[in-house]
Amino acid sequence: MHAFAYERPATLAEAIGLLEAHGSRASLLAGGTDLIIGLRDGTQTPAVVIDVKRIAELCPGIRDDGDRVTIGATTVMTELADSELIRSRYRALAEAASVVGSVQIRNRATIAGNICNGSPAADTLPPLLVYDAVVVAAGPNGIRHIPIDSFPVRSRVTALLPGELVIAIELPATSGRTGAVHLRQSRRRGHDLASVTLCCAVNEAAVTRIAYGSVGPRPLLRIDESGVLADAAGDDAAKAAILERMFAAAAPSRNSMRASPEYRLAMLRVLGTRGVRIAIDRLAQK
Ligand SMILES: Cc1cc2nc3c(=O)[nH]c(=O)nc-3n(C[C@H](O)[C@H](O)[C@H](O)COP(=O)(O)OP(=O)(O)OC[C@H]3O[C@@H](n4cnc5c(N)ncnc54)[C@H](O)[C@@H]3O)c2cc1C
Repeated sequence: MHAFAYERPATLAEAIGLLEAHGSRASLLAGGTDLIIGLRDGTQTPAVVIDVKRIAELCPGIRDDGDRVTIGATTVMTELADSELIRSRYRALAEAASVVGSVQIRNRATIAGNICNGSPAADTLPPLLVYDAVVVAAGPNGIRHIPIDSFPVRSRVTALLPGELVIAIELPATSGRTGAVHLRQSRRRGHDLASVTLCCAVNEAAVTRIAYGSVGPRPLLRIDESGVLADAAGDDAAKAAILERMFAAAAPSRNSMRASPEYRLAMLRVLGTRGVRIAIDRLAQK
């Protein structure tokens, strides 16, 4: 493994100072489930690794702040999947966290690491898009609130500016009844990144929100306000036509070892139809 310096700041100011001093030669380390692999295979060669786990402002935890729920940057997938608050109000996010890697990975993998790694296949991104999350970033110029839809740019690139790091993720309070689900297609059960991810939410106002990933450079959010998708007795052909329009921007790479573009697009349609049905059923059960 390439040699690097290791820093473990105790404060946010110290971490930002280190990021400013080292610029693109620094990498942040949270759970390490993505970074360590990059260090080992030589795709990442930082001069300095900055461990963020001791910084109080990033500490793990899920807090109900009334108008929003705040998730600390270093909250791991196991905590998200087990949280009663997340399971009851943001069920699809709990479902996404519960399928990341294995038990060992979920005990280490943080929510901030998942979105900052910049993988189009990151499982938590579709539910965060559907729930309209806000990324709280801190940097040399203070705190920024970044709508999640502006956060992923393309593979390995996020909206974070030089010197910035994610300190928390906020989920706006849910209003009214919503049925939601997170689905994924992978080559096999267990340790595998998804070939397609999809989250669907249907609310009592008949609005359907669908976010999908792993079929292009970044996950995408699409919203249907016509009420057609949300209609339990709606016409299947009409629904398929709307889904087709929602998926028009899907552009899977031909170079992926995981699945062909044709397979991914076919599975996207399957997950879309299935997701809408499950979300409607879940809404009806509330
Ligand atoms: C075997 C295996 C299976 C996996 N399966 C899945 C899966 O099914 N689904 C899935 O989505 N992912 C999967 N992953 C990927 C990985 O576990 C997740 O992306 C994880 O959430 C990354 O979090 P981490 O804390 O380990 O990040 P790290 O590896 O510590 O960091 C990842 C990246 O994010 C940056 N970063 C971390 N924290 C911050 C912060 N606070 N602010 C700014 N940048 C930050 C780091 O600099 C680095 O570039 C898998 C990984 C492995 C090894």
